[in-house]
Amino acid sequence: MSISIILLGLIVGSFLNVVIYRLPLKKSIIFPSSHCPYCKKKLKYYDLIPVFSYVFTKGKCRYCGEKISIQYPIVELLTGLLFLLTFLKYGLTSEFIILVLLITSLIAVSFIDIKYQIIPNEITFLFIPLGLIFSLIFNHISFINSLLGLIIPAGILLLIALTYKKGMGIGDVKLIGMIGVFIGWKYALISIFIGALFGSIYGIYMMLIDKMTRKTRIPFGPFISLGAVLMILYGDIIINWYLGLFI
Ligand SMILES: [Zn+2]
Repeated sequence: MSISIILLGLIVGSFLNVVIYRLPLKKSIIFPSSHCPYCKKKLKYYDLIPVFSYVFTKGKCRYCGEKISIQYPIVELLTGLLFLLTFLKYGLTSEFIILVLLITSLIAVSFIDIKYQIIPNEITFLFIPLGLIFSLIFNHISFINSLLGLIIPAGILLLIALTYKKGMGIGDVKLIGMIGVFIGWKYALISIFIGALFGSIYGIYMMLIDKMTRKTRIPFGPFISLGAVLMILYGDIIINWYLGLFI
């Protein structure tokens, strides 16, 4: 079973690469079929096997020899790994399906944010209503919790975004709203804290190695996403550990 879940993750990851490449360019995700971004040659099925095609062609296009971004196998492996970890925690339940859907969208958002500094509305405006509907149908969290998950964490980020004009963007506000409707307001709030923590560590590291000034923008989307994924996988452990600090 675990193997099938990893394979499913790799295939979804391969699809995510298409989304990450085409969505910001406003191209259709379905048509035309995959082609090399350099020589436009249509890719055959054996060019599209997740990770393996990349390894076998040594990261080059089979037709024009142009280098293919390492992002492709990374996204595939990451998706496969997160599918597996979520499955190991939740089993084959409706919760698993709901949460891997969220994780899938978070991977797309994170890589698009890193590359283009945008968080596409096509994703957030699709997944926010979806998360609310899931809570009504599956009741993995209550509908009220899902609704508060949209309002409270996003409200706080909106306040921060309006106070400090640089750094946080409206895209991040929509992103945390999307996370909140899926995992509830408390988990979403902790996701912000974890994201801010890792974001600050990254910022300090970048300043130390002199790669940025105080004005350089750190994309916050990937860090909030990281916080959310950690809460999905280890939320109970993180909360117990944190509470344990005060006893
Ligand atoms: Zn090519």
